[in-house]
Amino acid sequence: MRTIGLIGGMSWESTVSYYQSINRQIKQRLGGLHSAKIILHSVDFAQIEQLQHQHRWPELAEILAEAAQGLEKAGAECVVICTNTMHKVADIVQQATSIPLLHIADATAKSLVADEIQKVGLLGTRFTMEQEFYRQRLEDKFAIEVLIPEQSEREIVHRVIYEELCLGKIKTSSRNHYLNIMANLHQRGAQAVILGCTEIALLISQMDTNIPLYNTTDIHALAAVDFALKNSLQS
Ligand code: GLU
Repeated sequence: MRTIGLIGGMSWESTVSYYQSINRQIKQRLGGLHSAKIILHSVDFAQIEQLQHQHRWPELAEILAEAAQGLEKAGAECVVICTNTMHKVADIVQQATSIPLLHIADATAKSLVADEIQKVGLLGTRFTMEQEFYRQRLEDKFAIEVLIPEQSEREIVHRVIYEELCLGKIKTSSRNHYLNIMANLHQRGAQAVILGCTEIALLISQMDTNIPLYNTTDIHALAAVDFALKNSLQS
């Protein structure tokens, strides 16, 4: 089994989901007492969030690149950045290491393509919904059309992520907001919705709606497990 390197803590609430999801899938595939070989570098999210909102992306890239290098030195064989938003600096992080970075948008897009989804709604932070690094990758590399919520709705989605979900607060009123926003995307032609922030699955699950949901946390965790088990079932 290969060792998975996680860059987590963005926020730690969703890093817990990654740890659980990866280990559950390893257990399911290998059985018994098997669990994943994981090295975790967990950051202080207060610092990250501040730099994000000050648009200091080069500094953020440096923090994550150093984390990836540390993981590589410690024996990790791949890098998994446990957040959609920070994939804005994924290319720089990849260039800083010689081990592969498993990109969250690629893993999600492969899942959408397999299900023949051509038009999809995207929920995430404003960075993820509004900037090009995520949407453009889905559109250019996988020919998937991406719809995002209206501006006032994007503000709600963003606020709930930073002021509630990343702090472990789960509110029924916010779930209802999200369900309405997803329904609007569906009405505009989205065949499915990407939960493009790794905390959203703490608020919304497939049980809440008939619209097909793509949970990026689970999809990304599965990609890590596939990588870890590729070409060797146990060793
Ligand atoms: N975990 C979130 C994401 O997937 C948001 C927190 C962050 O800004 O990294 O985008």
